[in-house]
Amino acid sequence: MIIDWIKQYTDADRHALVHYECRRCGTTLTADDTTCPVCGSDEVATIPL
Ligand SMILES: [Zn+2]
Repeated sequence: MIIDWIKQYTDADRHALVHYECRRCGTTLTADDTTCPVCGSDEVATIPL
């Protein structure tokens, strides 16, 4: 059942390591950050590891 496999993979992937960082200054952010606390930029890069 490929659909089930995809769903399981997606659920597992939700907990996979993802790196968030500010596109402007490169500060490491968390998933909860919508803006960079250092420079105030709202451009957050999401980088799957
Ligand atoms: Zn920044």
